[in-house]
Amino acid sequence: MKPIYVPSGRAKEYGDYALNIYTGCPHRCYYCFAPNTLHRMREEFHSRVEPRRDIVEETRWQIEREGITGKLIHLCFLCDPYPVGYDTTPTREIIKLLKETGNHVQILTKGCGDRDFDLLDGGDWYGITYTGAQRDQEPGTYWGFGRMEDLGEAKDRGIKTWVSFEPVINADYVLNVISNCRELFDKVKIGKLNYWPSDINWAEFGRKAEALCRKLGLDYYIKESLREEMEGKGGPREAET
Ligand code: SF4
Repeated sequence: MKPIYVPSGRAKEYGDYALNIYTGCPHRCYYCFAPNTLHRMREEFHSRVEPRRDIVEETRWQIEREGITGKLIHLCFLCDPYPVGYDTTPTREIIKLLKETGNHVQILTKGCGDRDFDLLDGGDWYGITYTGAQRDQEPGTYWGFGRMEDLGEAKDRGIKTWVSFEPVINADYVLNVISNCRELFDKVKIGKLNYWPSDINWAEFGRKAEALCRKLGLDYYIKESLREEMEGKGGPREAET
């Protein structure tokens, strides 16, 4: 088992290295692609959430075998490092291990990761996802303004902060958050909803978002599939699943 891996395809745009800690995720976002990627039943993926077997030990052995150090490792791509309602001690153990071996972490969550801020420093990134979805579209997530408050706390502690605005579900909400919460984050990544239908005009949204980021002086990245829409190269918008 090699828990640390090099993502491919769209996942590559999240980072050069990634590690998935849990077998599933209870957040139940309606657009979740992870069960398809893992060839798992959707209900099983959302209801059976456990640390992957021996995840901490396996990661330690891989780091020792391959001499992995000085890397920025994304947590997580095919699950959430802070599944709401579950014990997240395995996440804490993984962060400790990565830091002890000279690596840094890039966290991305729809949960609450403030319990581990004491482990992070200015070489780490704490990030949240904000899509503008309604409550029933992401019913298991850490809801309300809490995720934004966590970002503020992380920033106050000198940890770098970022927001993944992907997939955008409500374009106006996302543009408002970029405008009004700009001081909370150091970097943003913006991406379209893929595989599901949407009435958002992606080219128009992408241009507005980019103009706003430039005006605010934000470090931003437009994901490739949104960039293609902005350049008139996007494909059909029909759902694949
Ligand atoms: S937080 Fe991510 S992994 Fe969890 S259900 Fe939502 S999209 Fe899927």
